[in-house]
Amino acid sequence: MNNIQRRGLMYVMSSPSGAGKTTITRSLLKDNDDLTISISATTRKRRAGEVHGQDYYFVTTDEFREMVDNGDMLEHAKVFDNYYGTPRKPVEEALSSGKDVIFDIDWQGTQQLSEIAREDLVTVFILPPARAELEKRLRNRSRDTLESETDIQGRMSKAADEMSHYTEYDYVIINRDVDEAIQKAQLILDAERIKRRRMVGLSDFVRGLKGGL
Ligand code: 5GP
Repeated sequence: MNNIQRRGLMYVMSSPSGAGKTTITRSLLKDNDDLTISISATTRKRRAGEVHGQDYYFVTTDEFREMVDNGDMLEHAKVFDNYYGTPRKPVEEALSSGKDVIFDIDWQGTQQLSEIAREDLVTVFILPPARAELEKRLRNRSRDTLESETDIQGRMSKAADEMSHYTEYDYVIINRDVDEAIQKAQLILDAERIKRRRMVGLSDFVRGLKGGL
């Protein structure tokens, strides 16, 4: 099966902050050599521990605008008063080299990608198991970061808005247990990879099976 040519897919993960999306994404990347992550550009301040070029490309608002004006962004949106966007070139290069690309973007970016590449898109929304758990995770995380109480409260209220967009996604994972959530995310990826329409090399393969008949 591995030698059948397949079109790369764009695997989008959205969730409110603190639902465990980063953990799930990192685990998928570790376990799937042919999966690569799209590193976004953002104008938000770097949090402690974040690395430029690894977590995000941290850019100024002018630099961000220039990228948008030059058509270098596949999608972009304003989230919590900051700009976020997906640089186009790395995604196109990864897809054309047969890799799948995972995106950690919000619902606005997902809508934009769906307008330009619906056929190649697989979208997953991750929900926290309960509101109290969401708040706990956000607070725990903020201990290691430079986030203020105002930032946290802002994220809690935005989480409610964000979660109303779950209806726009193909799949929903409720993150009760992280290992189980990772397993579900992997199952989705595996199933989507063998969708017939993505296996562009299938007709040649079957022709070979039929002995050219
Ligand atoms: P954070 O600041 O916590 O890293 O991310 C805040 C939100 O911005 C998250 O919901 C994340 O998915 C979203 N986000 C990160 N990068 C992008 C991007 O390139 N485009 C869009 N539309 N949203 C993004």
